[in-house]
Amino acid sequence: MQNAAIAALGLADEWSYEAIEMPPADFAELTVALPAKGFVGANVTLPHKEAALALAGEASAAATEIGAANTLSFFGGQIRADNTDAPGLLAALPEAPAGKRALVLGAGGSARAVAWALAGQGARTDIWNRTAERAEELAGSLAATSAGVAGPLSAVTADQARAGRYDVIANCTTVGMSESEDPFGELPLDPEALGPGVLAVDLVYAGRETALIAEARARGAGVVEGLDVLVHQGAQALRIWTGIDPPLDVMRDAAAGT
Ligand code: NAP
Repeated sequence: MQNAAIAALGLADEWSYEAIEMPPADFAELTVALPAKGFVGANVTLPHKEAALALAGEASAAATEIGAANTLSFFGGQIRADNTDAPGLLAALPEAPAGKRALVLGAGGSARAVAWALAGQGARTDIWNRTAERAEELAGSLAATSAGVAGPLSAVTADQARAGRYDVIANCTTVGMSESEDPFGELPLDPEALGPGVLAVDLVYAGRETALIAEARARGAGVVEGLDVLVHQGAQALRIWTGIDPPLDVMRDAAAGT
């Protein structure tokens, strides 16, 4: 996806993007050595997102308040941390979530970024998680530490989530990665909750339409697929490093393998 954008921008002679695996124990040592090897930045994924933030001398408000970084930039001997998961999610939405009622399913890393983004834009945001204490911790810690959180944030039970009327429903769990998992069985979500005027967001990208997205489409709801969020967060990272707006369609085609 990133190399396809780099090629489309005519930057392939100067820039390239490559995957590097790092054991957690060596993350800091290997990352601080990257600038000397010619790297201007890095995307960071699990399990290194908290370590990436800790390593940086400077961080965006999003990275600091979410407590994780997925993008590092190296300049003048400094490391800066950003989190493009949250702005990437917002960029993928068809309209701003201010004033909407949102349900975030999950309380892991992506749920943290999504809840921060939605509540930060003024959505009334409920969080449900299979392990209830993690939803309570997430709602409490985001409300306490985030200057940018504008909408109310609450942890909800499965019964409350099922009874709620939501404009935006975001699956931030891993449910759906495997085709055998039924989101309507494992999550407090009824198919009837999806329909015109509702937006279903599925962070899962599985190389196929997930069951949640298929049901939402069939019922006339709006959809944002995991692939869209992936492309937007990657585009924001590329923009940070190059200062150029990358071509989203090229990135999407490359990420989808089409
Ligand atoms: P994570 O930190 O490991 O969190 C996993 C979450 O899934 C937890 O809330 C966990 O609940 C929940 N969960 C797992 N199995 C479940 C089940 N059977 N029923 C109900 N809940 C279940 O993972 P993450 O980083 O947030 O990622 C979540 C998903 O988003 C993954 O599929 C990942 O690939 C995707 N993702 C996509 C993007 C994108 O750009 N599209 C970005 C980031 C992540 P417990 O707390 O109870 O264990």
